[in-house]
Amino acid sequence: MDHNNSIHCNVRECRNHCESEDYCTLKEINVIKNSAKAKTVECTDCASFETK
Ligand code: SF4
Repeated sequence: MDHNNSIHCNVRECRNHCESEDYCTLKEINVIKNSAKAKTVECTDCASFETK
């Protein structure tokens, strides 16, 4: 499957994952913070995730 070389991702549980390689297939993704003030990487999420 074609993937976006600019979006590396290892979330293979996502419907948008390439599967054969660790990349996303979307042209762009939406990244959000899950706390009022992001201070660590854990405070961020991919909001474009979709369940398979
Ligand atoms: S939508 Fe987000 S979580 Fe899903 S494959 Fe793309 S970057 Fe990864």
